[in-house]
Amino acid sequence: MNTSQLKQMMLSTAHQMIACEPMLTELDQAIGDGDHGIGMKRGFSALVKLINDQTFQPLNVGECWIQMGTTLMMSMGGASGAVFGTLFRAGGKSLAGETEFSSVSLARWLNQGWLAVHARGGAKPGDKTMVDALAAAAGVANSAQSLSLSEALTRCAEAADQGAERTKMMVASFGRAKNLGDRAIGHCDPGAVSMALILRFMAQYAENEVG
Ligand code: ADP
Ligand code: MG
Repeated sequence: MNTSQLKQMMLSTAHQMIACEPMLTELDQAIGDGDHGIGMKRGFSALVKLINDQTFQPLNVGECWIQMGTTLMMSMGGASGAVFGTLFRAGGKSLAGETEFSSVSLARWLNQGWLAVHARGGAKPGDKTMVDALAAAAGVANSAQSLSLSEALTRCAEAADQGAERTKMMVASFGRAKNLGDRAIGHCDPGAVSMALILRFMAQYAENEVG
């Protein structure tokens, strides 16, 4: 997948994330302050604007991810603005100068992204954050590097989905849900669900458009 296809994949992903706003709001109302859906909608609307701007012509996939991450970070606010912005930017830095986004790049993007998110906010798997979905996807991506990008994305999306589902049984150690203690049990972490959705929408685009 070249830089222009990556832009189209993320444009499609952004439109679908915007449509998930009510569901994400409901999740954050259960264990947070209810703004996660609005924040994601704001960030991904800014991403749509960036990608549709004719002056946005990144020279390679690394630069494309970095600029998309900066846009998320600047527009979203909240914990998730920093977290998803960091994933996109750190993932992008690990792909500096590369002109193709492949299953090998996906593995690097997810693994460097999750290391950076961990370095920034301290969350590790089991803490009931988006890291539960991200780390699960990163692990699967490592063993999917010989597959096509579409197949690798599909597997990563499934792993992220399972990671997000596992957060239901967890008590939170980070973010606002931390204050709820055991009352957070029974609810999925909204950021983990967002992480799984992003990968699912990327996988759907890659399957339909790239094969
Ligand atoms: P806020 O907590 O500022 O209201 P959001 O509601 O937009 O931010 O996002 C909440 C999500 O952010 C959580 O569901 C969780 O997945 C994620 N999150 C919070 N703190 C961290 C952290 N330290 N590391 C990784 N993800 C985090
Ligand atoms: Mg919130």
